Amino acid sequence: MAARDIVIEEYTAQLQACMYQYSRAIYRSIKDLIDPYVAPELHLEYRRAVLDQCEQTMERLAKDPLYFAKPDRALFQDIRRYFPITAQAEVAWAVKEGVTAAVAFIEEQIEAGALDGGVARCRATTRKGKPCQRTPLPERDYCPSHQHLERSKVAA
Ligand SMILES: [Zn+2]
Repeated sequence: MAARDIVIEEYTAQLQACMYQYSRAIYRSIKDLIDPYVAPELHLEYRRAVLDQCEQTMERLAKDPLYFAKPDRALFQDIRRYFPITAQAEVAWAVKEGVTAAVAFIEEQIEAGALDGGVARCRATTRKGKPCQRTPLPERDYCPSHQHLERSKVAA
C-alpha cells in the first residue's frame, strides 16, 4: 500500500474515532428522556435503537460531510418516536447541539485539508501552527520543505 493511502486511512480512522465520541455524547444527552412508560425490555430496545441511529448519522456525516443536508433534523426524525411528546422539544434541542458540534468539527477537518477528496497532505505543522498544505513527495509523508522530518523520524 502506498504511503499516501496509509495517510488517508489514518485520517479516516481518526475521524471515525472522533465521530464515535460525538455520537456517544448525543446519546448520553438524550437517553434519560426515552419513554419511561414502556415495558423494560422495550425500553432497552429503544435505547439500542437510539444509540444505533446516533452512530449511523455520525458515520454518514463522516463519509459524506458535504452532501448530508440537515443531519440534525434527519436524526431527530429517526429517533423522535422513542421519546414521549413532553420530551420532544428537549430531544430536538440536544440533537441539534450535538450534531452542530460534530459538523463544526468536520468542517475544521476539511479546512485543515484532511478530507479534501482524499488528497494526501504533508504532515508537518508550519511555523504559524497550521498544517502544511503542500503535497508530500511520492511514497513520503512530507513535502520537499519538510522532508528532513521524515529522516529524523526514521533515525529515531
Ligand atoms: Zn510540508
